[in-house]
Amino acid sequence: MAVAAREKITLECTECKRRNYMTEKNKKKNTERLEIVKYCKYCKKRTTHKETK
Ligand SMILES: [Zn+2]
Repeated sequence: MAVAAREKITLECTECKRRNYMTEKNKKKNTERLEIVKYCKYCKKRTTHKETK
């Protein structure tokens, strides 16, 4: 079996636009853009982080 179609992505805070997190996703299983609520140390609160491109 071939290597899984993993893609490195960056998660950006939607409020301050800083790139806070790096992660990976499986391109085939996860085609929609990620949106994850995570703590942003710049906003000092939990905010929505979106995949950048
Ligand atoms: Zn932020």
